[in-house]
Amino acid sequence: MKTIGLIGGMSWESTQTYYRLVNQLVRERLGGLHSARLVLYSVDFAEIEALQQRGDWAATAQILEAAARALETAGADFLVLCTNTMHRVAPQIEQAVKIPLLHIADATARELHRQGVTRVGLLGTRFTMEQAFYRERLEAQGIRVLTPDEAQRERVHAVIYAELCRGDIRAESKAAYLDIVSSLAERGAQGVILGCTEIGLLIQGDDTDVSLFDTTAIHAEQAVEAALATKFDFAAPHRLT
Ligand code: GLU
Repeated sequence: MKTIGLIGGMSWESTQTYYRLVNQLVRERLGGLHSARLVLYSVDFAEIEALQQRGDWAATAQILEAAARALETAGADFLVLCTNTMHRVAPQIEQAVKIPLLHIADATARELHRQGVTRVGLLGTRFTMEQAFYRERLEAQGIRVLTPDEAQRERVHAVIYAELCRGDIRAESKAAYLDIVSSLAERGAQGVILGCTEIGLLIQGDDTDVSLFDTTAIHAEQAVEAALATKFDFAAPHRLT
């Protein structure tokens, strides 16, 4: 089994989910007392969030590059960055180390392809919904991405930082998210990506008839697939023909 290097703490509320899922999946796959071999580097999210607000992505990259190098030195065979938003600086992280990064948007695209989904809604932070780094990576892999309207994006973003990243799960926010999921489906989305690693704490598949693609679960599953496979292709582009 390979050693997974988790870059977590963004927020730790979802890093707990990663830790639980990778261990559960290894136990399911190998049985008995087996558990995941991993190293976790967990950052102080307040520092990262303040830099995001200022748009100082270069400084966030420096923090995450240092985390990546520490994990490589500690014996990680590959990296899992436990946040969608911070994949904004995935290229810098990849350059800082020799080990591969399992990109969360590529993991999601692989799952969408497996399920034949080509037109999908995207929920996440404003950075993830509005900036090119995430959407274009999916679109390059043949996936059409629909985002909520301005007022809906504002609500989705605010709930992530003011509630979910603080472990505050509220019924009214759940209802608002489910309305937004329905409106994306009405606009033609075949499913909706939960493109923020905390959203699965608020809404789950049982809450709606719309197919939900939870990036935390997908990322953790593929991390285990990569850890247990003799060969795993970390390379992205996987275009639909
Ligand atoms: N965990 C979140 C994500 O997946 C948001 C927190 C962050 O800004 O990293 O995007």
